[in-house]
Amino acid sequence: MYDIAVIGAGVIGTFIARELSRYSLKIALIEKDNDVSNGTTKANSGIIHAGYDSEPGTSKAKFNALGNPMFDQICKELAVSFKRIGSLVIGLSSRDMNTIEELYIRGLANGIPEMRVLNGNEVRKMEPNLNDDVSGALYAPTAGIIDPWELAIALAENAVENGVELLLNHRVTAVEKLPGGYRIHTPASDIEAEYVINCAGVHADEINSMAASTHFHITPRRGQYFVLDKYAGGLFNTVVFQCPGKMGKGVLVTPTVHGNLLIGPDAQDTDDKENVETTADRLLFVRESAAKISDRIPFNTVIRTFAGLRAHPNTGDFIIEESKEAGGLVNVAGIESPGLSAAPAIAKHVVELLRGAAGKLKERSDFNPLRRKMLKFMELSDNEKAGLIRKDHRYGRIICRCEHVTEGEIVDAIRRKAGATTVSGIKRRVRPGMGRCQGGFCEPKVMEILAREMGKDMLEIVKEEKGSFILTGRTKGSQDYEGK
Ligand SMILES: Cc1cc2nc3c(=O)[nH]c(=O)nc-3n(C[C@H](O)[C@H](O)[C@H](O)COP(=O)(O)OP(=O)(O)OC[C@H]3O[C@@H](n4cnc5c(N)ncnc54)[C@H](O)[C@@H]3O)c2cc1C
Repeated sequence: MYDIAVIGAGVIGTFIARELSRYSLKIALIEKDNDVSNGTTKANSGIIHAGYDSEPGTSKAKFNALGNPMFDQICKELAVSFKRIGSLVIGLSSRDMNTIEELYIRGLANGIPEMRVLNGNEVRKMEPNLNDDVSGALYAPTAGIIDPWELAIALAENAVENGVELLLNHRVTAVEKLPGGYRIHTPASDIEAEYVINCAGVHADEINSMAASTHFHITPRRGQYFVLDKYAGGLFNTVVFQCPGKMGKGVLVTPTVHGNLLIGPDAQDTDDKENVETTADRLLFVRESAAKISDRIPFNTVIRTFAGLRAHPNTGDFIIEESKEAGGLVNVAGIESPGLSAAPAIAKHVVELLRGAAGKLKERSDFNPLRRKMLKFMELSDNEKAGLIRKDHRYGRIICRCEHVTEGEIVDAIRRKAGATTVSGIKRRVRPGMGRCQGGFCEPKVMEILAREMGKDMLEIVKEEKGSFILTGRTKGSQDYEGK
């Protein structure tokens, strides 16, 4: 029996699993998909919010304010890209300026440091590509940008290094109460654990209902985005928000941590928890909204559109508590924005909840907080590159010409703990396919490397989720596949 089973390997589940791996515990991290970070964690704005936005007194406000300052240390330990570039909420009218004043006061109540209200000239000096009618802004220098999937992957890798068992392709279908614990049913195997932590994102309400009859409800709230080529990444220096509305923070424009420009999201409630398609009408809305921030956004440099699903709870706030009815089941649910920013503080809080429930947790002396950095070949000096190629010739073979990724980096991404097994898994770890051609040139080569490293046929390689095969048969060269 495991001491603790964490269901869901998004940023919340991986943070909690890694935090728990500091203690002498047997931990399972259970994920329905074939990789970590395949849910909402892979599709959001990637902003570590300063924390002025949420209502004072809510869990959102508390954990955002506590979580934000933790990122410098965590990203250093895990070698994850993070930049504290600051954020602006811009005002376009006197009504907006009143909202900005309210946000400032809310920020003070939430304990957010260093905020300032700027006038129009000050804002345009910081961001020369804003429209001329910007009349002022709330500036919060502690806001940052991060690669959210890189963070979750790094957390999972470090958790596994510290003894957590990652059980991929284990979709939880039932949670059965046992004396002193739970049996978690999945088609792959059943898992028994004393404590269950439910971090299943948009599906967390279903997991709770498997064990308890007191329900909460999660509505998937879809948000759609444009990603622009790196040419456009330098257009803005900070995260630029508009004033928030009923459905959230509204369409924003931000550089990404890798130098692209990200624009979005809209907000649309749906009843389909898997529907992450983008639609022409909503993307047009995003484009028109972004034009209020700047009319200089070069939409002819869009390289990708995508959508993510917020886990919007009917309670209006994060749900982080042990179920009153199903003792030993801790729900960490409804973690919509600012969930990424709040994640490290949520993880610490959950450990404290367990300490209360399970008694003393024994710290391990051999916990290693450090993750080996993903080597970025193109960032090395010429001497370092030459030395590396001498040691391993695969670093001398460029696979992705847009993002300059070598075969050596791809092989490393596959062979690491919690390593990649899919084309998208490689893409999220070392970025082939993230550039302008979106994998047009490198994808077949990535597939070849994956097949070779995993001892599989190329026809078995999937893009992302189970069954998402890319090839259907050979067109020439092998009789084995003729006619198939
Ligand atoms: C459009 C958008 C923009 C956002 N922008 C920001 C932002 O800029 N800053 C910020 O702080 N936050 C932001 N957020 C919120 C942030 O993305 C989320 O709070 C965070 O990603 C939630 O992580 P999670 O681990 O709870 O969920 P997920 O990443 O969805 O992880 C849940 C995991 O559970 C697994 N799972 C589900 N059901 C089962 C099952 N039955 N069995 C096993 N596994 C299961 C899923 O496959 C998934 O991997 C945004 C969200 C959206 C949608």
